[in-house]
Amino acid sequence: MNIEIPASHPRAASLHVRESLIDGCKAHVVAYAGLIAHGRGEAFDYLIGEKTIPSAAEAIKAAAAALLTAEHPVISVNGNTAILTPKEIIELSEVSGALIEVNLFYRSKEREKAIQKVLKKAGATRILGIGAAASARIPELLSERRRVDPEGILIADVVLVPLEDGDRTEALVKMGKRVITIDLNPLSRTAQYSSISIIDNVVRAMHQLIREVKNMKKSTQQEIGKHLLAYDNKKILSQAIAHIAERMNFLAAEGCT
Ligand code: ATP
Ligand code: MG
Repeated sequence: MNIEIPASHPRAASLHVRESLIDGCKAHVVAYAGLIAHGRGEAFDYLIGEKTIPSAAEAIKAAAAALLTAEHPVISVNGNTAILTPKEIIELSEVSGALIEVNLFYRSKEREKAIQKVLKKAGATRILGIGAAASARIPELLSERRRVDPEGILIADVVLVPLEDGDRTEALVKMGKRVITIDLNPLSRTAQYSSISIIDNVVRAMHQLIREVKNMKKSTQQEIGKHLLAYDNKKILSQAIAHIAERMNFLAAEGCT
């Protein structure tokens, strides 16, 4: 931490998150581009109102159902997610049975090691996608993100990809996988291509997703499956965009926040 943030500061929580990402960048966990991506996310969080909207809560239910009914679920982790929600990644993996795989756009040995260290410190025992383990390739992708683990994303039927890039999301969907994303921008290609798009901050959404998985585990597989049958991602995206439009119209009419 480089600066003192007074607890009374109206945006103290947001400033702490920014500082942890800057520290993560210095420790090679977060890429420079990850800092820019965070800024994009924050902008959309302002528009949404910095809380979990009802359509996101519905998407979280469907995501919990998808993870619990999957044969081989995987959580894909990048630098930003590792810094923002390390403990939540481990807990979600434990309660849902999903494996953890590191997948990076800007891959280097140094970053892999740094992210592995953060996840291990948070309690991870098995981390896929490190070094030579990422020996398989996703077809049609040119970036380093095409490198995946043959025991993880390659054979996964459900992949959770928080803060993901659009190209890879599209490629994973084309491979026949059910893709769940957490992305604050309902207009991003990732949100548009995914099977289940949680339009929310990963910091809020991961907590809710863990809670939902824990609750849903008490139901039968058949009951859990019902959440997926009724799910319509186009409707969820429309509702998120409508939420922003209505909120902006309201604030424009009020003239203040
Ligand atoms: P796309 O490639 O999907 O069109 P993009 O190129 O704008 O999107 P990427 O860097 O590829 O962005 O992906 C990062 C995404 O993560 C962005 O849509 C950004 O809004 C979102 N994002 C950033 N921080 C958070 C956060 N804390 N919680 C949820 N989403 C976030
Ligand atoms: Mg992108």
